[in-house]
Amino acid sequence: MLEAGNARAAKRREIDPADERELLDAIDRWVEREVAPRVLEYDHADRYPHELVEQMKELGLFGATIGTEYGGLALPAATYARIVMAISSVWMSITGIFNSHLMLALAIERFGTEPQKREWLPKLAKGEVRGGIALTEPDAGTDLQSIRTTARRTGDGYVINGAKTWISNGIEGSCFALLVKTAPQAEPRHKGMSLFIAPKQSGLKVGRKLEKLGYKCIDSAELVFENYSVPAHNLIGEREGQGFYQASSGLELGRINVAARGVGIAEGALALATRYSQGRKTFGKPICDHQAIQLKLADMATRARAARLLTLDAAEAFDRGERCDLEAGMAKLFASEAALENATESMRIHGAYGYSKEYHIERLYRDAPLTCIGEGTNEMQRIIIARQWIKRHPAS
Ligand SMILES: Cc1cc2nc3c(=O)[nH]c(=O)nc-3n(C[C@H](O)[C@H](O)[C@H](O)COP(=O)(O)OP(=O)(O)OC[C@H]3O[C@@H](n4cnc5c(N)ncnc54)[C@H](O)[C@@H]3O)c2cc1C
Repeated sequence: MLEAGNARAAKRREIDPADERELLDAIDRWVEREVAPRVLEYDHADRYPHELVEQMKELGLFGATIGTEYGGLALPAATYARIVMAISSVWMSITGIFNSHLMLALAIERFGTEPQKREWLPKLAKGEVRGGIALTEPDAGTDLQSIRTTARRTGDGYVINGAKTWISNGIEGSCFALLVKTAPQAEPRHKGMSLFIAPKQSGLKVGRKLEKLGYKCIDSAELVFENYSVPAHNLIGEREGQGFYQASSGLELGRINVAARGVGIAEGALALATRYSQGRKTFGKPICDHQAIQLKLADMATRARAARLLTLDAAEAFDRGERCDLEAGMAKLFASEAALENATESMRIHGAYGYSKEYHIERLYRDAPLTCIGEGTNEMQRIIIARQWIKRHPAS
């Protein structure tokens, strides 16, 4: 476990700059020594990286944002974002193993009762229990209020029926924050929604691992609930009707998270393009000396830098305890589009080798589009940004 998890990061949302540097150096060393040499092999085989997960436990990543009183590192969002950037510049997939796990932890830590926190957070912080967040259904993604999974009250518990899909860590994880309807007829619809802590047990069937374009190795799966029973004390906060609010309030941090992944890909693609263009020669000189390549590199470097600054700006607002849906939305939108554009441009700079599975850039090219979908599609992001913008600038 990294030292920052103990005395030095005791105060939430703040970290001594020297401690942050030490932590980030440890992450950089791990990425360089353990992740980079194995990424091609894992990605091509689409194999779950058990070995790296054990190392991630040692690094404390499963408790990165969980409070120290529950055994976590209590890192500020800005430090957490820098970690996600560093890892994603080499391999975005593995950040998904702890990102959605930490969304589950966040829901419990923010809205759970003290007994719920004491029961679940220490196990989550150690990575003994790993999990994710189960919101999406086959017929409900963006429009989450139209979900059909229901929880019916029976004595001192609930019986849950329905299906979730695209759930990250669905196979390897063992506990999920599960969004359901406890009052399916409620109007407005969100008032009938609740969030449960749903461990794997009888009544929960895990469907097949979904095949994907990129974001390999991490398992995305269907979860089917058939007369799945949970005690009433698994209802987060033990209050019905709060689920939509509880799930969506985690989205600010979720969007900072995805923005950080976008920054990582944008910077990783730029680094690969820079190196390749300095080594590859055409017409007697390195291709980085051709102006057409320089124009691409200039745009890529500018996009990567702007994406980093927007993401850290949103994370710092989050750490100050400010509402930051506008900033997080802008960061997510810009950084994910930067990831997609930089991955495409880097692939083009690599010429035929950009199309080869022996080179890293084709993985970044396949991974980048997910950042435009996850935690709210970029179409929705623009709508959220516009609504917030108008709200913050009322007509005088
Ligand atoms: C690899 C992967 C991992 C995922 N992991 C998880 C997870 O762990 N947990 C989880 O719950 N979900 C997860 N998801 C699901 C993801 O959150 C949803 O895919 C996403 O919210 C979009 O929902 P949808 O796919 O149903 O698209 P839809 O909602 O059907 O949208 C389709 C298109 O219509 C657009 N659109 C929809 N409504 C509007 C509107 N009002 N105005 C303008 N445009 C609109 C969308 O932007 C999109 O372009 C994951 C998805 C993927 C691909």
